[in-house]
Amino acid sequence: MKRLLIIVAVCCATLGLMAQPRIDRPKLVVGIVVDQMRWDYLYYYYEDYSSDGIKRLLNEGYSCENTMINYVPTVTAIGHASLYTGTVPFFHGIAGNGFMINGKPVSSSEDKNVEGVGTDSKVGMNSPRNLRSTTIGDELKHAFDFDCKVYGVAIKPRAAILPAGHSADAAYWWDSNVGHFVTSTYYMDRLPNWVEKFNHKYNTEPKHDLNTSNEGVTYTFRMAEAILENEKLGRGKYTDMLCVSVSSTDAIGHTYSTRGRENYEVYMQLDKELAHFFKELDKQVGRGNYLLFLSADHGGAHNPNFMKEHDQPAGGWDSKTARTNMNEAINRECGVPDAIQAIYDYRIYLNHNKIDSVGADVEQVKKVAIDVLNKEDELVAVVDYEKIQEASIPEILKERLINGYHRGRSGDIVVMTQAGYFPYRVKSDYKGTTHGSWNPYDSHIPLVFMGWHVPHGETNKPTRIVDIAATVCAMLHIQMPNACIGDAITFDAPK
Ligand SMILES: [Zn+2]
Repeated sequence: MKRLLIIVAVCCATLGLMAQPRIDRPKLVVGIVVDQMRWDYLYYYYEDYSSDGIKRLLNEGYSCENTMINYVPTVTAIGHASLYTGTVPFFHGIAGNGFMINGKPVSSSEDKNVEGVGTDSKVGMNSPRNLRSTTIGDELKHAFDFDCKVYGVAIKPRAAILPAGHSADAAYWWDSNVGHFVTSTYYMDRLPNWVEKFNHKYNTEPKHDLNTSNEGVTYTFRMAEAILENEKLGRGKYTDMLCVSVSSTDAIGHTYSTRGRENYEVYMQLDKELAHFFKELDKQVGRGNYLLFLSADHGGAHNPNFMKEHDQPAGGWDSKTARTNMNEAINRECGVPDAIQAIYDYRIYLNHNKIDSVGADVEQVKKVAIDVLNKEDELVAVVDYEKIQEASIPEILKERLINGYHRGRSGDIVVMTQAGYFPYRVKSDYKGTTHGSWNPYDSHIPLVFMGWHVPHGETNKPTRIVDIAATVCAMLHIQMPNACIGDAITFDAPK
C-alpha cells in the first residue's frame, strides 16, 4: 500500500510538472530612462519626493547603486541605444547624438528614406536604421514569434526610437512644429485613431518648446498611459514592452544646470508623474505583473562658475580656437586648408576627401593636429582613435574609448578634458551644464528595478549600463540582444 502511494505521489508530481502551462514571465516590461538624471538626484531630492514616486522605487525595488557607463562619450543617443541593446557604440553603431556616415553628418536616428506621420516637417524623418544591433524589444519579438507588442515614447525622436528597436510596433515623439505626438512611415502610414484623439486633447501651439518645460514630462507620461490603455499592453498572451524616455530633464539641465529652482521643479514633476504612472500600471496590468526599471542615459556636471565660486577646479576648453589653431598648423605643414571637418562630442573629424584631394598624408595631418592639442592645458588626454592601446592613459579610459569608437562614424582623434572642464569656453555669466565625459558626474547613473520577481534591496557591486538588457533578458528567459556584452545582475537576497 505504501509503495502504491509513493508511485501515485511520483506520478502526480510528474503530471504536475507537465501541466505547468509555460515559463513564468511578467505581463509587461517597462523601461524608464530619465535624460541627464545623475545618480545622486535619487538622494539629493529624496526628502521632497512623495512616497508613491521615486521613494516607492527605492523602498520597494532593488537599487544598483554603482552603475557606470562603460564608454565615452556619455551622450543621449548612445545612452538610449546602449541601455536597450546591452552593448556599446563599437557594436551598435550609434556613435553620438550626431556623427558621420561616409563623411556626411547625420543625427542619430535621422532617416531620409522615411517621412513623418502626423507632420510634414523634418522632425518626422526618423527611424532606428542607424542602429546596428537588436534591442530587448526585438528579442521579445523573436522569443514570442512576434506575437507581443513593443512601443517607445519620448519628446525627442532618438529617445523614443532607439530603445524600442527595429521591430517595434511604433515609436511616438513630439514635433514642436505641429505641437503634438508624431511618428514616421517606418512604423505606419497614418496615426491610429486613438493617437489622433490623444493629440486633439494634448497639444500645444506650434513652436512652443516642450523640451525646456515641465509639461514635457507630463505629456510623455500621459502618452505612455494612453499607449498602455489603447494598445492593451500586458493583456496579451506574451510579455509586452513599453519604453518611456523623459527628455525635458536634459534641456532644463543644459539651460539651468544641476542646482536651483528649475532643476528641483522638474524632478518634483517627474516624481509626481511617476507616482501617477505606477498607479496606472497597478490598475491596468496589476501590481507584481510588470517588471520595471528606471535609469538614465548619462548624468551631468556641475556648472563651472558654481564650482569656481566654491574654490573647486573647473572651467572650459576653448575648442573653437583649438580648431582654428589646428587648421592653421595643418595648412602650414601639410598644405591642406580647413582640414578639420567637425568637432562633435570631444571628437575631431578630419576631412578625408580634402586631405586625399591634395595628396597629403593622413598620418602626418593627425600628428600635426595632436601636437597642437597636446599643448592645451585643459585637456587630460589626446588620443588617435586607431592607436588607443599605445596611448599613455589609464586602462579604464582605454576601455571606454575603445567601447565608444565605431569605425567610420567616430572621427579620428578624441580628447578628454580635465575633471570639471567643459568642451567649450565658459563665460562668467554661463549658467548651464553639459555632459559627455568619462567622469563620474557624467557616467554614474541611477538603476532601480521594481516589480515582478524583484526583491527589495540594494547593491554597491559595480554594474554597467550594458548589464540592464542582459538582466531583463535573463529574468525573462529570452535570448539577449545580438551584440550584448553585459552580464545579468543577480539581486542579492534581502537581508
Ligand atoms: Zn541625454
